[in-house]
Amino acid sequence: VPLSEFDLIDRYFTSSTGPRDDVVLGIGDDCAVLRVPDQRELAVTIDTLVAGVHFAADAEPEWIGHKALAVGLSDLAAMGAEPAWATLALTLPQAEPAWLGAFSRGFSELALAHRVQLVGGDTTRGPLAVSVQVHGLLRAGAAMRRGGGAPGDLVYVTGTLGDAGLALLAEQGLYVRDGCLGGLREQLHRPSPRVAEGLLLASVASACIDVSDGLAADLGHLLRASACGATLYLERVPCSEAVRDYVAETGDWSVPLAAGDDYELCFTVPEEKQAVLENLALDFSVPVTWIGLLEPQKGLRCCQADGRQLAAVPSGYDHFAGGD
Ligand code: ADP
Ligand code: MG
Repeated sequence: VPLSEFDLIDRYFTSSTGPRDDVVLGIGDDCAVLRVPDQRELAVTIDTLVAGVHFAADAEPEWIGHKALAVGLSDLAAMGAEPAWATLALTLPQAEPAWLGAFSRGFSELALAHRVQLVGGDTTRGPLAVSVQVHGLLRAGAAMRRGGGAPGDLVYVTGTLGDAGLALLAEQGLYVRDGCLGGLREQLHRPSPRVAEGLLLASVASACIDVSDGLAADLGHLLRASACGATLYLERVPCSEAVRDYVAETGDWSVPLAAGDDYELCFTVPEEKQAVLENLALDFSVPVTWIGLLEPQKGLRCCQADGRQLAAVPSGYDHFAGGD
């Protein structure tokens, strides 16, 4: 007997994530009803992953479930918000129990780890696509924005950049190596949103953005919003050994600067708060690295180890560029 839409919701989503006492009504009614505490603001964001664009149609469903939530959590992290609730719009070509079970496992493991409760959604039939909206809580007025940076502020990034991009090149057979690139695939398929780091950064960062389209593009957004420019010191950009080898062999900076899917945080800190930041960062799950400086002159300049500027700064992914 094929699963009905309602069986499917019941079986795979209704109790898949833990209860929060601020959920007045969860899955099952026409709307979810959620309690926002006094003195808090709600941060809301939605992301869609489309088969064939963001992941291969035959990709591991567990990874799809994980990543569909991770990308939204990364946006909340960039604002310094504490994740609370999620809704899920799922478009499926067919209701396949094995696929749904694995998808829901990937989603709910990450949800539980961040105390996120799935409170509603929509299920339709069609080409595979997943939209997840996440809701987070902020102390009123405390959101980190893209536009708070000022000349003189230091530019930092969490973790390493380019691992997901290199893993993708390897999967596509465009970069072949004897060494093992296995560890990088985890970064591509199961990114860890820097939620705890974002919460702590909210007290020191002047501006913040998450790196989803590549450092050059996302730092570019921060610079435009902050009405300034920056110099980036390329030798300081934190990269895994595999990515450093790749850049050394090919001279191609686009993997760490523009491949995207990093889900790290790029943020700015006024110089006088540098010591406070570096102290805070001792508690982070990943290192933070100082990579550049905000300047009055607009635009992004990439300074190489020999002091010369990179002639062309690689740009990020744009769904509508190229015109098809
Ligand atoms: P309505 O038609 O009133 O919008 P639905 O019949 O689509 O409601 O959904 C029934 C309930 O199941 C609602 O509470 C809805 O939020 C929830 N729901 C539907 N699809 C999903 C899903 N993929 N994940 C989580 N909750 C879902
Ligand atoms: Mg209804």
